[in-house]
This record gives sequence, C-alpha cells and structure tokens, in this order.
Amino acid sequence: MPQIETVAGPIDDAQLGLTLAHEHLVTSSESVRAQFPHLYDPADEERRALEQVRNAMEKGVKTIVDPACMDIGRDVGLAQRVVEQTGIQLVMCTGIYGARYTFVPWYFQNREVDAMVAAFRHDLEEGIQGTDVKAAFVKCAVDEPGVTEDVEKVLRAAAQTSLATGAPIMAHSHPATRRGLEIMDVFDDEGVDPRKVQIAHTGDTDDLDYIEELLARGPWIGMDRYGLDIILPTEQRNATVIELCRRGYADRMTLSQDACAFIDWFPQEMIAQMVPNWHFTFLWEGVLPALREGGVTDAQIDTMMESNSRGWLTA
Ligand SMILES: [Zn+2]
Repeated sequence: MPQIETVAGPIDDAQLGLTLAHEHLVTSSESVRAQFPHLYDPADEERRALEQVRNAMEKGVKTIVDPACMDIGRDVGLAQRVVEQTGIQLVMCTGIYGARYTFVPWYFQNREVDAMVAAFRHDLEEGIQGTDVKAAFVKCAVDEPGVTEDVEKVLRAAAQTSLATGAPIMAHSHPATRRGLEIMDVFDDEGVDPRKVQIAHTGDTDDLDYIEELLARGPWIGMDRYGLDIILPTEQRNATVIELCRRGYADRMTLSQDACAFIDWFPQEMIAQMVPNWHFTFLWEGVLPALREGGVTDAQIDTMMESNSRGWLTA
C-alpha cells in the first residue's frame, strides 16, 4: 500500500479521506519574523490555526495539505502542536517560494542546483527543521515575473529531487500569464513524469483554452483559491469547474482555498475587508452547493476532494 508522509508519521494512502489540497496554517515574511519577533504573536497564530483546522474537521476533512516552504514561513513546530491538539492529518513539503517570485537568497544563488537538491532531499528523507517529520512533496513557484534565473534553478532542483526520490511536485503558478505551460517546459526538459506535478492556482483563470492546453501536458491542476474573489470571483471559478467536469476533467482537479489561518502580508483588518470569504470552509458555503446545482455529481466532488490528492501524492 503506498504511503504518504504526514506530521504524525506515514499513513496508508487509503487513510487520506476528505482532503483540502492547499491551505496554510501560517504564511509569514521569514526575514521580518526572524529580526523583529516582537511584531508577532505566536499564541494568537496557533489559536487561529486550531480554529480553522477544527472548522474544516467539522465538515469531515481528514487531511490538509499545507504547501508552506522556504520564504513563506514553514513552521514544523506549529504544525506539530496543531496536529497534537486536533488529530488532523497534515501533509508538509520542502521547497523554495522565492522572494517576490524572483530571487533566492545568496546561499543558493552562489551554489549549484545540487545544493538545493541536497537541502530538499534532507527534508524528504530525514526530516524538516530538526524533527523527524518528513516532507511529502516539493514546492516551487512561478508567478508574473516568470522563469527568472533563480526561479529556473528552483524548478530544476524540484525536478531533480523528484527524479531522485519519487517525490511529487506542487508548482504555484500565475495563469493570467500562462505560467503553467512554462513550468511544464522545464519539467519536461528534466524528464519529470507530469503525473507527479500539480499546477497550483490554475483556477485563478476561466480561460478554458489555456486550462485545456495545460491539461494536455499531463499535470494535475489546483482549483485551489476559492474565496480569493479579488483575483477571480467565485461564480467564474464555479462555472469553470462545472464546465471542466462536463468535459471529463473531474479526475484532474483539486478543490481548495489557499487560505491562511494567519498571513502577515497585509494588515489584518485589510484582509478581512478585501477577502471576507477566504477561510478553510468556504467550499461548503459558496462552492459545493453551486457545483451540485451546476450538474457536478457527488462522485466527482469525492474525486476532486480525495482521489486526486491521493493520486498526486502517490504518483
Ligand atoms: Zn499557497
């Protein structure tokens, strides 16, 4: 039986259950946090994380995939405390986000790709941040700035790590600039099996031509930013998922919210005002009922919220 690494240890893939494919306990600016810790309230962050996780578990969620990696505040200690108090199956990753999707720090800039691969393999094979909690996949990110020199290094390191270990990859993308296709160009060049790749944030567009072009390259796609209406309103996200289900792609999509129980990128009151629906259970309010009304079956919803995460994590 294929195994999936979680914070509490490996589980059989059959135990995955209802899964949120992309949510964050905490997203924070690592350099600010390290230098000005007085700006942060870890107890409040933990309280928020516990609240969001418990809300999701009340909806039947058994597993949450948290793609926090370097640059956005991955914190295995917080993850362990949340898992201990809730029993959630939390899946963590290794990888590099890139500062403003553009640069990596000097350490990696002045070393070869191998140095990144070694760092990623450490997290996958030995454990994250001094613990024995193993990463289950590799994260990388390409946004509007495109495949810069540093970003390409991260993509190639993710690819080479996947080839060496079998780990799947999640790539943050920016569909408005069709970045998913450029990401697949690099992975194809490295010889990665596209079934190991999930192109996150594909649901940020309703450009079906782009999405079908991307699907033809073989990856899973994340329709994973429900609640971020400022990028694309829920109605358009729903219409896109409904149409893709109608075209036979339910077995290629994951549904999630990319919500952060705590994020420091904006003042807290601004977040509440900008994206009121952005939390761990918006799917049950603004999405699943509308999808069902649009003809999406319960079996297709199960596929998008369980089987596809299992398929990607065990590919
Ligand atoms: Zn995310």
